[in-house]
Amino acid sequence: MSTLLLNHADVVITMDTTRREIKDGAVWIRDGVIEAVGSSAELAMYAAKADEVINMTGRIVLPGLINTHHHMYQSLTRTIPGAQDAELFAWLQRLYPIWAGLTPEMIKVSTLTAMSELILSGCTTSSDHLYIYPNGCRLDDSIEAAYQIGMRFHACRGSMSVGESQGGLPPDHLVEAEDFILKDTQRLIERWHNPERHAMLRIAVAPCSPFSVSRDLMRESAVLARSYHVSLHTHLAENDNDIAYSRAKFGMTPAEYADSLGWVGEDVWHAHCVKLDHAGIALFARTGTGIAHCPCSNMRLASGIAPIPALREAGVAVGLGVDGSASNDGAHMLGEARQAMLLARVGHGQSAMNARQALEMATLGGARVLGRDDIGALAIGMSADVVAFRSDTLAMAGAAVHDPVAALVFCAPQQVDLSVINGKVVVRDGHLTTVELPVLIEQHNHFARQLMI
Ligand SMILES: [Zn+2]
Repeated sequence: MSTLLLNHADVVITMDTTRREIKDGAVWIRDGVIEAVGSSAELAMYAAKADEVINMTGRIVLPGLINTHHHMYQSLTRTIPGAQDAELFAWLQRLYPIWAGLTPEMIKVSTLTAMSELILSGCTTSSDHLYIYPNGCRLDDSIEAAYQIGMRFHACRGSMSVGESQGGLPPDHLVEAEDFILKDTQRLIERWHNPERHAMLRIAVAPCSPFSVSRDLMRESAVLARSYHVSLHTHLAENDNDIAYSRAKFGMTPAEYADSLGWVGEDVWHAHCVKLDHAGIALFARTGTGIAHCPCSNMRLASGIAPIPALREAGVAVGLGVDGSASNDGAHMLGEARQAMLLARVGHGQSAMNARQALEMATLGGARVLGRDDIGALAIGMSADVVAFRSDTLAMAGAAVHDPVAALVFCAPQQVDLSVINGKVVVRDGHLTTVELPVLIEQHNHFARQLMI
């Protein structure tokens, strides 16, 4: 049994049902679960019996952020010349041949790198969509990294089965046989998936996109996922070319295509949906289908501005995703919340999104999208995923004194001072406790160079 008291925070942003923001706040944690949230005075009785008390003076405390879409292996191929200024399809065609050189060790190291970056930017739960498996790579390589660093993880078994010769986008040598994909997905669910509350690891079934897998694989993936009660994830309606491909190949909009394959429901979340039309928004709202909104990636690839205010207005579950590191080269979860707010304003006007709504998407929104009711808020019975940012930094000067909650989103993003995941301190005084960052960066850069030879 282990207990932890965080007390005297400048403010605790709870994201609970009444959205309490508690000044001089405290959080009491026992065995990875939150047992009390309130003012430091209210929780004073716990100080004497806590295994550890951390003084949060000068800190803003909030629920760990939740990243709903990523491709962590892409950390090895950030800023590749030739892929810096391309739109989605050309960008993929530049990168596929490079990714063909990935090895299991590269998957593990790049996942550790991506997770380090996410954790230091306030994220405590992440999904990852791995859809490329050359040279013996397995999703297990990513899962080992999550265990090592101590991050709550939704590992998505991605796949590609339709190569260029069949009218798909990826080169033929990078696609897998559909029978094997389904068998391996089943193996992963049986080996790793934990359906229980406070689970540190869940598996999702995740064919890469309509332009890289067949209708049959989409359909059979949905049947497999539902027989095990695991979630479904893919990319949808990302840009105009994506829409054109869907109309030309399937004679349907992406939303109609998803609907026709059973790819809607509370157990499904789609990345991007930049080009989701009115009928698609209504379909997603009606069926409880979720969306991973990735504003930086959408800007980087000039995909467009997702209709987030209309989606939220319709009641669609919307979470945030940094997306793969090769289309958002600076994956920063709090930064993503900031960009979500700014991009919503560019696309839909000044009142399209405020700072608290952006934080809500990054916490409660992400939890809903991933199908979880045990993360995203600091409240009794929730998993103890808690982060703290300092309020006395240069970036926060003149801001946190007025409105520390809004300042987190409005001011330039920075790194966390503390991160507690599942009750364990993973970042202390701004430093990761579970990996040697300089060693990891050196290994990562070695592999990044090797991949380009
Ligand atoms: Zn993606």
